[in-house]
Amino acid sequence: MESIIARSSLGINLGSPKWRRPIRIGRPRSTVASVSSSALPKSEHDVVVVGAGIIGLSIARQLLLTSHLSVAVVDSGVPCSGATGAGQGYIWMAHLTPGSSTWELSMRSKQLWQELAESIEGKGLDPLQELGWKKTGSLLIGRTSEDLAMLEERAKLLSQAGVTAEYLPSTSLLSKEPALDVGMEAGAAFLPDDCQLDAFQTVAFIRKGNEHYASDGRYTEFYNNPAISILRSENGMVEAIQTSHNILYCKKSLVIAAGAWSGSLMQSLVKEDVLPRVPVKPRKGHLLVLENFNEIHLNHGLMEVGYIGHQVTNLLPTEDDSKKNMTSISMTATVDMNGNLLLGSSRQFTGFNREIDYSITKRIWDRAGEFFPTLRAMSPKLNQIRIGHRPYMPDGKPVIGPVPGMPKVLLASGHEGSGLCMALGTAEMVSDMILGNTEKVDSAPFSIQGRSS
Ligand SMILES: Cc1cc2nc3c(=O)[nH]c(=O)nc-3n(C[C@H](O)[C@H](O)[C@H](O)COP(=O)(O)OP(=O)(O)OC[C@H]3O[C@@H](n4cnc5c(N)ncnc54)[C@H](O)[C@@H]3O)c2cc1C
Repeated sequence: MESIIARSSLGINLGSPKWRRPIRIGRPRSTVASVSSSALPKSEHDVVVVGAGIIGLSIARQLLLTSHLSVAVVDSGVPCSGATGAGQGYIWMAHLTPGSSTWELSMRSKQLWQELAESIEGKGLDPLQELGWKKTGSLLIGRTSEDLAMLEERAKLLSQAGVTAEYLPSTSLLSKEPALDVGMEAGAAFLPDDCQLDAFQTVAFIRKGNEHYASDGRYTEFYNNPAISILRSENGMVEAIQTSHNILYCKKSLVIAAGAWSGSLMQSLVKEDVLPRVPVKPRKGHLLVLENFNEIHLNHGLMEVGYIGHQVTNLLPTEDDSKKNMTSISMTATVDMNGNLLLGSSRQFTGFNREIDYSITKRIWDRAGEFFPTLRAMSPKLNQIRIGHRPYMPDGKPVIGPVPGMPKVLLASGHEGSGLCMALGTAEMVSDMILGNTEKVDSAPFSIQGRSS
């Protein structure tokens, strides 16, 4: 029988005692006199970031690189415990729509990823080794005449928006991807400049960079250390965040980047009705990892057209619970830096449940089998399954910016299935807000105002 591993952070077993201890890297800059009766250890930082997913760690990185501020990152688990550890890694524009609310941020973020890969290359290192970075190009595949008309139009729109894109009829599609069997009615939008990364490798790279700043006291990490409450001064100003093991003072800013947990965390931290409720919800996803899978050779990253609707389904609060639990499956296929075939993906509203659902993994396998005859002829190989909770916002765009009524507190969450893609752009946006710099991308669409539930 095959062994099945439900992975979370960096392949580390979160139950292991080693990872249950709080971890500190570097020394906090200073220790402050107690303003609380708590006996917990206290430290002071300019900025405290809650959440060590791709968003929180990228924000820390950007602040460390572009300012003199000291930064602490705190997480209830370890890096990649959340959605980041499940991410497939595509940094694609194929399924995004020019002019949509996330377009500019995604474009900017992709540019920043590309610049990072180039700077790594400029230092004589290999972006593939450092980030799992590959410029594979992406194919958004359709199988009906309606799909093809839409893809042709999309390729034009993307080109007009400055992205290299072309429409491929079936013969060209099949010559690019001979492993596909989608018939002569199929076609695709092809984006040769789309890229992918490996989330684990990239997080390791970002952490290594951040840790350079630990020796002079500018960077500290606190893991297995859930944030529990916010401490305020007598005049109501946010002073610190209390975790299970520490009190972390934040002189300049507190950033909540706790992914799908951000909504419930804000509620438990603040416990005040006057503040807007952030409607971020967990949207569970399964991803199949077929280790060293040589039966199919892929030249590009693949995604079926249905993914566009699959990602942006909006559920209104009036819809009944059975509909909210509605499961959606859409085929995505990529090959990672280690030669593993990654097959996605599912979307479900089932709270923070982390159980593997084998009816879902079978549906992902069967869906992929509609595109790859080799899979149709095989029984499912489930030697690794990743599960993550995408931070879902009902209006389909992240929430980034100050929390009204709480000076110093910013939110950066709700990136759903595009958090890896939008991470560097989000980090730049948050850092510019904290430092008072001119914004590179208009942050207004991401403001929390008017989006609370
Ligand atoms: C199957 C799957 C495939 C995906 N593929 C892609 C892809 O190809 N491309 C792409 O761009 N995106 C993809 N995504 C989406 C992407 O993974 C997410 O959007 C992104 O990881 C969100 O990052 P985050 O930092 O906001 O959240 P997370 O990674 O979830 O990090 C939040 C962190 O907050 C911590 N936390 C929670 N509560 C507390 C607390 N009380 N105190 C302290 N810490 C706390 C958690 O432990 C966690 O580490 C995929 C997601 C899934 C599930």
